[in-house]
Amino acid sequence: MSISLHGIGVSKGIAIGPVHVIDHVEVEINEATLSRQCLDDEILRFQEALITAREQLHRIRTHVTENTHVDLTAFIDTHLMMLEDDLLTDAPIQIILERQCNAEWALKLQCDHLVEIFEGMEDPYLSARKHDVVHVVTRIQRILKGYEEEALPTSALETDLTDHIIVADDLSPADTALMQHRGILAFVTEFGGATSHTAILARSLGIPAIVGLRKARGFLRQIDMIIVDGSHGVTIIDPDDRTLRYYRQRQREERRYRASLNKIKRSPTRTLDGTDISLQVNIEFPEDMTAVKRVGGESVGLYRTEFLYMNRRQAPDEEEHLDAYTRVLKALQGGPVTIRTLDLGADKQVDSRTHSSPAANPALGLRAIRLCLRDAQLFRPQIRAILRASAKGQVRLMVPMVSGPHEMIQVRNIINEVRTELTQKNIPFDPRMPIGAMIEVPALAVCVDLFTPYADFFSIGTNDLIQYALAIDRVDDSVNYLYDPLHPAVLRLIKMSIDAANKADRPISMCGEMASDSRYVRLLLGLGLRAFSVNPEAFLEIKQIINNTDMKGLSRLTGRLLKAKCNTETVPLLEQINSD
Ligand code: PEP
Ligand code: MG
Repeated sequence: MSISLHGIGVSKGIAIGPVHVIDHVEVEINEATLSRQCLDDEILRFQEALITAREQLHRIRTHVTENTHVDLTAFIDTHLMMLEDDLLTDAPIQIILERQCNAEWALKLQCDHLVEIFEGMEDPYLSARKHDVVHVVTRIQRILKGYEEEALPTSALETDLTDHIIVADDLSPADTALMQHRGILAFVTEFGGATSHTAILARSLGIPAIVGLRKARGFLRQIDMIIVDGSHGVTIIDPDDRTLRYYRQRQREERRYRASLNKIKRSPTRTLDGTDISLQVNIEFPEDMTAVKRVGGESVGLYRTEFLYMNRRQAPDEEEHLDAYTRVLKALQGGPVTIRTLDLGADKQVDSRTHSSPAANPALGLRAIRLCLRDAQLFRPQIRAILRASAKGQVRLMVPMVSGPHEMIQVRNIINEVRTELTQKNIPFDPRMPIGAMIEVPALAVCVDLFTPYADFFSIGTNDLIQYALAIDRVDDSVNYLYDPLHPAVLRLIKMSIDAANKADRPISMCGEMASDSRYVRLLLGLGLRAFSVNPEAFLEIKQIINNTDMKGLSRLTGRLLKAKCNTETVPLLEQINSD
């Protein structure tokens, strides 16, 4: 008998295949007091665990695939170096002798001590190194306790995940990035919201994903084969023949539909009544340009550069930034790219093992431009690289999570200083490179006019705008039911932004996920939006909808949506907008 489990479908499509469960298991460590006679044996046990840990890491290092966006061998080398460091090899032995305690506990005490030192460091990269310590210590403790090897991040990399469905409690954006382009069929997680970055990555990879499927690991651990229906958020265990036939048929239909979209790849993006619409693409890595080319994308409306910082030991330097931007520009062959400055913080941490933040409300905390303005060392190399890239092609610089004009003024001051430095050194850049702001914080949406002196263009980031306007954490599936792009407050904020930008003659686009959702395209056109930036997988579908839309009557219907009070009013209105 087949059983179905329901979660939140966040990336469309059907996957059928075997399960690979990833556990972020906590190791429970207790103190045990030992007699003096046992201490030599305990030290020997600890030293043997160190040898096993080294062997495990050497084995992983030889298996790491080269086809990843991150330098994984550097990661593993750091851990190997730590396993040779007195702080982890000798200090725990001293603790065993002094406290007459077990090796696991001695390691815990030493780990706590080292983490405290790292946490006291101002530099976010050095501070993030505490996770390396925790990771190495956990590896040794697991060996001491006789556990199996840990799943993420390193050992998941030595497993061949091709054609597997990944089931996990949660995957950070950094975890998901580690698993990109490894032939994974689908993701199912126990936690996470519809616009979490993990969901966004799954959509841009074009693989089905379900989040918020509580206890998924418990249900799916022993299962050989499951079906994941990402459109409906359904996972089916042990499907019978009829169910399998049905889903295989749907898979074939979806493939046929995708193939049929190829015929509009070269056509312009223009409504039936002749309005030209700008359709751009969102990317996370220069490697994504292959997918962009496949669908005929010619410009990038959002390049999320923070992925350049994840899963690595040191922040990228100026040359590395420049290299990434140059690769994107080269692939675009003259087309424009909007490079968004670093948006780290909240759920996007520099390290795959940072699953929590000490801040109580990280989404409201030190993230994005706030972090960059606080830490010039982090920000300046990127600004220099973006300016230098502007000499090589059409580049726009976009600032995330702006909440006040003063932030744009500070950014502009920094850019001016960097311009002066570059001019003094005869390094070329485009002095007219546009500098824009993302509309993600409602404070900006309601007073766009105050920002127009400092922003050459705007882009609406609905993922954050909805999160902040409706006060729902985008990564928390328990409040996902409140996530509603049709909420009149959201629609009014979008409309106000578009109208104000148009009035001030500033280009405005939308790069949040709402623009990639086929259900909202006509509604957004009706609200006056004329520029969309969407994930590569959605690109052709969105183009097809735009090309089949007649703008007549749209603004009247969308005007009614702006006043609709509840779903019983919004849903039929949206259906009417979307009916041909
Ligand atoms: C957004 O908030 O809509 C956006 C595009 O930025 P991100 O999803 O990277 O936060
Ligand atoms: Mg955002």
